[in-house]
Amino acid sequence: MPTNDISGYEKCNGCGLCTLPCPIWQQRHDALLTFAGRARALQGGAKPGEIRDSVDACLLCGSCEPAFAMDIRTVDITLKLRAALNGYSKEELPHGQVNQSSSGRALLVPNAALLENKDLLKHSARLLDIPVAEDNGSDVLEAFETGRRPKAGRAVSFIKTLTGIRKVITADGLLKRYMQAVLPGLEVIGLGEALLRLPGMQTALRPTDLYIIEARSYNMDFNRCMPFYTDISRQTGCAMNLDLQRIAIPTGGYTNTETGNEFTPQNTGQIRWILEGRSFNRIVVESVEDIGLLKNAEVDIPVVHVAELAGEDAP
Ligand code: SF4
Repeated sequence: MPTNDISGYEKCNGCGLCTLPCPIWQQRHDALLTFAGRARALQGGAKPGEIRDSVDACLLCGSCEPAFAMDIRTVDITLKLRAALNGYSKEELPHGQVNQSSSGRALLVPNAALLENKDLLKHSARLLDIPVAEDNGSDVLEAFETGRRPKAGRAVSFIKTLTGIRKVITADGLLKRYMQAVLPGLEVIGLGEALLRLPGMQTALRPTDLYIIEARSYNMDFNRCMPFYTDISRQTGCAMNLDLQRIAIPTGGYTNTETGNEFTPQNTGQIRWILEGRSFNRIVVESVEDIGLLKNAEVDIPVVHVAELAGEDAP
C-alpha cells in the first residue's frame, strides 16, 4: 500500500443504505457528512483536504459498515483519510506476533472511563478472572483514531506488552480494528460480550430492560456479534439499541473530542433516538461512558453496568 493510500471508496455505488444508521445523517441530514457523501466526493476527484469536516465529524461508530452490500471497510477508509490529512500512513504501524498457543494469557484492556471507575474495573476483572493491562495504550489508540503518529516508540512498547497474550477483552471497540491492523490473529472481544458470556449473566436480563450495546465493538465485528446478541434478545425478551438492519445505534459516549467539529452529533440526540417511543424499567449499559451520558440526558430510569448483573436473577 503506498503512503497516504486512501483507496477503498471506489466500490461505493451510492445506494445510500449506509446513511440510514449514521448518527451524523440522523442529526444533520447533510449527505456530504456521511461515508457515502465522502465516497461520492472522492470519486468525483475531491482531495481529502476538501472533505476535512466530513472526515473529522465521523464517530467511527461503524454503523455504516454492516449496511454496505459491497463489503466496504468504511471505518478503515475514514481512518486512512484522517491519516492522509496528517501526512501519516497505516503502513507505518508497527506489527507484532500473536501467541497462538492455548497457554497464552487473556488480558482486560480498560479505557479511560473504566480506569476512572476503579470499583467497576476491579469487579469486571474479578468476574472475568483475568488481569488488567498495566498499559492500556490509550495514547496509541487515540493517535490511531485521529490519524496521527504516536509518540516515538510508544506503539512498539504497547504491542510488546501484549507478548504472550492470546486474548484481549477491551472496553473500546476501536481497539478491535487497531489489533486487526497490528496483531492480526489476536482474539479481541468487547467487555460487554465477555461479561454476557459468563454463566448466569444473561438470565438477569428482563423483558422490561433496554440493553445498550457498545456500538463500535458490535458494528466492527458485526458478523460474529449480530447472532450472539440477537439470540440474547430473543431468549430474555430485553430490547437493544439495534435498528431494523440489526445495526447498533451508537450513543457516541466514546466520541473523541479532539477529532470532533461543529458537525459532530450531540450525544443527547443519540439517546433520544434510542429511547424514542419506547419505555423501559431499567437500562443496562456495556460502556461506562454511557452511565454519565444517560445522566446528562436526564433519563429518569435506573442505569446499571452489565458487570452489576452478576449474581442477580430475573424475577
Ligand atoms: S462510522 Fe458512524 S459516524 Fe462515521 S460515517 Fe459511518 S455511520 Fe456515520
